[in-house]
Amino acid sequence: MNILLTGGTGYIGSHTAVVLANAGHSVVLLDNFCNSNRSVSERINQITNQMIPCIEGDVRDTGLLVKTLTEFKIEAVIHFAGLKAVGESGQEPLKYYDNNVAGSISLLEAMKQVNVKTIVFSSSATVYGEPQYLPYDEEHPLNPINTYGRTKLQVEEILQDLAKSDPQWRITLLRYFNPVGAHESGLIGEDPNGIPNNLMPYIMQVASGKLPHLNIFGNDYDTRDGTGERDYIHVMDLAEGHLAALSFLQNHQGCETFNLGTGKPVSVIELLSAYEQACGQKLPTKLAPRREGDLPIYYAKPNKAKEYLGWMVTRGVADVSTSSYRWQQMRDGLAAS
Ligand code: NAD
Ligand code: UDP
Repeated sequence: MNILLTGGTGYIGSHTAVVLANAGHSVVLLDNFCNSNRSVSERINQITNQMIPCIEGDVRDTGLLVKTLTEFKIEAVIHFAGLKAVGESGQEPLKYYDNNVAGSISLLEAMKQVNVKTIVFSSSATVYGEPQYLPYDEEHPLNPINTYGRTKLQVEEILQDLAKSDPQWRITLLRYFNPVGAHESGLIGEDPNGIPNNLMPYIMQVASGKLPHLNIFGNDYDTRDGTGERDYIHVMDLAEGHLAALSFLQNHQGCETFNLGTGKPVSVIELLSAYEQACGQKLPTKLAPRREGDLPIYYAKPNKAKEYLGWMVTRGVADVSTSSYRWQQMRDGLAAS
């Protein structure tokens, strides 16, 4: 199949590009490089041993999308492009609604114009908000507690309405939990700008010596060891979930939602220990106050994805840590050269 990946040089897009290309699909990447760069596409080519087209452009440019969909005879789109920093979304809501919501409308408008009606959308577990029960299943009430989460929910609702308006649409909404890890080659991985907000990239920068210590945001939660627990999913498992979603859509019209997570919560201490094991050193930590807005624990019920997509994770925190460490060494090498 010919598949367009918006945001295709980003963290999840780049790993999905590798999985799709290796499965025999023809992949085209489109990215405005606001949170990535062109060298990622070269490294995707290196891993796959293919020349994957990479278009520089913005999803809000409907004309460019029409041209790209037509030129490459695209049959399905995976829509990764978006902004994802929760804190920034509260400070700059218009930027987030414009990029994430208006950007999605522009893409859907272009797809409609050229009659490409198959799309996989990158949604997030943040659409659930305060847990009414755990694990979150897809029926859990939706009540995002930040602007970023609301942009994701709005796009989900737009896609639901689109599917109702025209039965030809084939849509999956994939709610990702906490993506971590890197491709086993060490050539691609998460590469955040500035000081990371998320736990795994922060740990990696402490291990690189770029940051002095990890702040552990609270150790008095009602969890196994008192630190926050999350559902960390290896980015390659997540990427494989997109391949499964695309196969599912070949035989299903309408709009279907899936959690992509492991179903197993892991604490801050547990993830840190796994990384220490991979990099062979003890990392400095400091106990810090709880981070405002943090939930003590949340994780997925991934049964629906298993039942409908035939997908489940095959990697654990040890794989996450070894692949992340390989990527960290590679990236430190790139920065030094
Ligand atoms: P990322 O920032 O690494 O990738 C997003 C890519 O989209 C970047 O390469 C960026 O340059 C590009 N982009 C942004 N706005 C664009 C625009 N208007 N036009 C064209 N390109 C644009 O993020 P990621 O972690 O790979 O996330 C991919 C998607 O998954 C996002 O929609 C994100 O909201 C969603 N998601 C991510 C996580 C996570 O923790 N990483 C969790 C849940 C959902
Ligand atoms: N966390 C931490 N120190 C950090 C970053 C995160 O202790 O520097 C904790 C955070 O409180 C949460 C967990 O790690 O319990 C995961 O945080 P992250 O931001 O990665 O994911 P999110 O909270 O958005 O699910």
